[in-house]
Amino acid sequence: MNMITNHMPTAELQALDAAHHMHPFTDNGELATKGARVITQAKGVTLTDSEGNQMLDAMAGLWCVNVGYGRDELAEAAARQMRELPYYNTFFQTTHVPAIALSTKLAELAPDHINNVFFAGSGSEANDTNIRLVRHYWQVMGKPTKQTIIARHNGYHGSTLGASSLGGMSGMHAQGGVVSGVHHIDQPNWYSEGGDMSPEDFGLERARQLEKAIHDLGEDNVAAFIAEPVQGAGGVIVPPETYWPEIQRICDAHDILLIADEVICGFGRTGRWFGSQTMGIRPDIMTIAKGLSSGYQPIGGSLVADHIADAIANVGDFNHGYTYSGHPVAAAVALENLRILEEEKIVDYVRDDIGPYLKSKWEALADHPMVGEARIVGMMGSIALTPDKANRAPFATDAGTVGYICREHCFNGGLVMRHVGDRMIISPPLVITRDEVNTLIDRAVIALDKTYAEIKAHGMNVAG
Ligand code: PMP
Repeated sequence: MNMITNHMPTAELQALDAAHHMHPFTDNGELATKGARVITQAKGVTLTDSEGNQMLDAMAGLWCVNVGYGRDELAEAAARQMRELPYYNTFFQTTHVPAIALSTKLAELAPDHINNVFFAGSGSEANDTNIRLVRHYWQVMGKPTKQTIIARHNGYHGSTLGASSLGGMSGMHAQGGVVSGVHHIDQPNWYSEGGDMSPEDFGLERARQLEKAIHDLGEDNVAAFIAEPVQGAGGVIVPPETYWPEIQRICDAHDILLIADEVICGFGRTGRWFGSQTMGIRPDIMTIAKGLSSGYQPIGGSLVADHIADAIANVGDFNHGYTYSGHPVAAAVALENLRILEEEKIVDYVRDDIGPYLKSKWEALADHPMVGEARIVGMMGSIALTPDKANRAPFATDAGTVGYICREHCFNGGLVMRHVGDRMIISPPLVITRDEVNTLIDRAVIALDKTYAEIKAHGMNVAG
């Protein structure tokens, strides 16, 4: 086989990609006619493609490259570990230093009542662990009927069958079905679903759907509630301030475990180590991945409260685990990544410096005639596009039509910003500088202006 290098013509790389590579969340036939963008290099917050174009990556890859691209320390950590011990498992009463060191460090960073980690290879796997873990826990506790997990419409928890069942994405459920015993309630998306209610009342109303669901299902049948502190893939939906305190009250009152999916929110993205801290909640389990290694290695896990870990100890094996649970190279890289986050005070930088700076610029985008709201927590933000700001109305075109146009203008203007329906979202590397934030905002405004001009020219700036 010929070596496939960065130096082949783009068209050849695209043809091979189209012939053999099935992309996630993609119509591969459609992509084949267009040709995938080939990313060849990255440094800091900047991507370079095979044509030499540079783009500011306002998504940190897939919400994960928290310390930015091109960190030699992480490459060195991987190389060192590969030479010393490239692989060993943590089954059968063995362990290794990277897994010991990383679990110890995570216990130190997590809230006081959480001192245990079950490692996985990704966020999806970790959420599958959570399903089995909470169900097993209640069996051990002598309450074997507590098996149903309550989750939310438009939540995202991953792509494996278990995780996608927890997620509330109907397009995913339609392809391959769902596991039994998951019940969904509505999301706290005031902008789209709040109608005439105040955000505060709406937040309470949505939280109390949890109480109603527990009542309808029977408290003795409900194991846990899972949610992202701030919904990410659903469009960076920031819940009203009344929402999380009420959810916490309900979980406590009804003996329901609270699982915070911190896969995006964790490791500084919201300006604290965990989104649960920003939102003031006390989860029993936290799902982690992405920023744990800044995406340099695939690794995820479940941070588990002591009362759960203690309960399932000394009662026989928990029959669960992955070949790559606690993979030594991934663990070594994650540990080094946490060192960088800590020593460079990157979480403080988000909370006290770059976060507030980005917030002021981002929220000013709400002045644009096509922007209905601009929301941001730490370094995850969204803007809602609308033809009618006063009424927060959707476009008459299919959801996502205008968002896609805007995304294309962003890409062509050197900015990676994603769209979820007609919301535009950002989640840049946490190390982004003020100058780079200015560039991000300038490019976003240009893309918004171009989108606005285009949809007006095509008569698409009308409410549906
Ligand atoms: N949970 C959340 C909140 C996520 O955003 C994601 C990924 N976007 C996942 C879980 C799944 O993680 P992975 O893709 O690593 O399996």
